Amino acid sequence: MLRLYNSLLGNNIAVAPLSPPEFKMYVCGPTVYDFPHIGHGRSVLTFDILRRYLEHKGFEVNHASNVTDVDDKIIERARRGSQHPIALARKYEEIWWAEMDRLNVLKPKSAPRATDWIEQIVDMVATLVGSGVAYISDDGVYMDVSQVEDYGLLAQQDLSKVQSSERNASEHKRQSLDFALWKFAKADELTWSSPFGDGRPGWHSECVVMSTGILGHDFDLHGGGLDLRFPHHENERAQAEALGYGFAQIWMHHGFVESQGVKMSKSLGNFTTLTEMLDLYDPRAYRLLVVRAHYRSPLEVTRELAEEATSALRRLDQFAQRMGPILDDPTVELDESGSFLSRFEDAMDNDLDTPAATREIFEAVKSGNAAFDRGDFRTAKTLASQVAMAMKVLGLQPGRVEESIPNEIAKLATLRMEAKRSRDFAAADALRDQIHAAGYLVEDTLEGYRVRKS
Ligand SMILES: [Zn+2]
Repeated sequence: MLRLYNSLLGNNIAVAPLSPPEFKMYVCGPTVYDFPHIGHGRSVLTFDILRRYLEHKGFEVNHASNVTDVDDKIIERARRGSQHPIALARKYEEIWWAEMDRLNVLKPKSAPRATDWIEQIVDMVATLVGSGVAYISDDGVYMDVSQVEDYGLLAQQDLSKVQSSERNASEHKRQSLDFALWKFAKADELTWSSPFGDGRPGWHSECVVMSTGILGHDFDLHGGGLDLRFPHHENERAQAEALGYGFAQIWMHHGFVESQGVKMSKSLGNFTTLTEMLDLYDPRAYRLLVVRAHYRSPLEVTRELAEEATSALRRLDQFAQRMGPILDDPTVELDESGSFLSRFEDAMDNDLDTPAATREIFEAVKSGNAAFDRGDFRTAKTLASQVAMAMKVLGLQPGRVEESIPNEIAKLATLRMEAKRSRDFAAADALRDQIHAAGYLVEDTLEGYRVRKS
């Protein structure tokens, strides 16, 4: 049974959906004003793998993830470029989905844009004001967090030490942690009308309205990066609590992306876009780096690690290519006793221990190749089919390995095959050693043999 760490209470809990087989999850999506960065990539890959694993286990995942298309940053960026903020948001949203395709991320079932939900957001803010937990100030509508029982539970830190992340000066608010539900428009800003005054929604209100509007007042999982736990998720939860919603059963947060031990972020100047990375490397290399770290641990990303992941992928691709014919061969039966897949699932069930699950895959590849080499096609076929299934769960579909083999090596391989056919095994072995010494490997396949770089 799948167990996940719940950030709300800091415990591991068994995943039991509210209305099985449906599993309802909401993942905070991007604010679209720039190219996606590497941290965005980790976020979507983490939840893509969760979704694929839930589907592998038979759940029907109702996956919603928003696009924030109205925000201070979008407005600022658009002003600098003399562009309309919505035009800017649409441009970067298009880039976002193109990069998601390159990452082989399954598209959410719903991808709501905040600007399509303004009416519902205004209604929710009016309800909160009506019930006395929110108040109208001179620059917007604020949530009074002192009225929310257990405010700060998700933050898991001493809130007296936490500075409010709201940009508005505290003289507009009763307490520094109160947050904006609705911001009154400044001159020339994007604006919508509301009973409180013209303006636009606060980010924390957008996500509560869209998640509960699409998935219902109670759903199974709410996810995002560790940086969203406070204040964004705490503030979403505060509104949901005040409205009497059950809201998310499990809160799931992934760790940061680091480069040489330093958190990757724009403010530190070591900002690298996801687009740059996907231009440089096989997009699956980033996915492999992501699965090799536990989702709650920091993820180290460097060029060296990306290159190492690229060569590890070759081992998986070469295995898939070598095993292709045997998988298609109906005369070779599957060995049902294979236990690789159950070890893979045990690791995944343990709070998505993808590093252990990935080690199992590479072990199975090694065993599968060894079984093939000794002519045990039944074991090889079993391992190959289970590895293919596990790779699908991780979203690592095999690619083709195209290699150009120098003529002289190809010639030695042909001579070796002829020696084998005439049962001159000593000569065949000597030729194999000669090929190996030149940096190549010759492997027997069902159709004959194959040469590749060692
Ligand atoms: Zn959100």
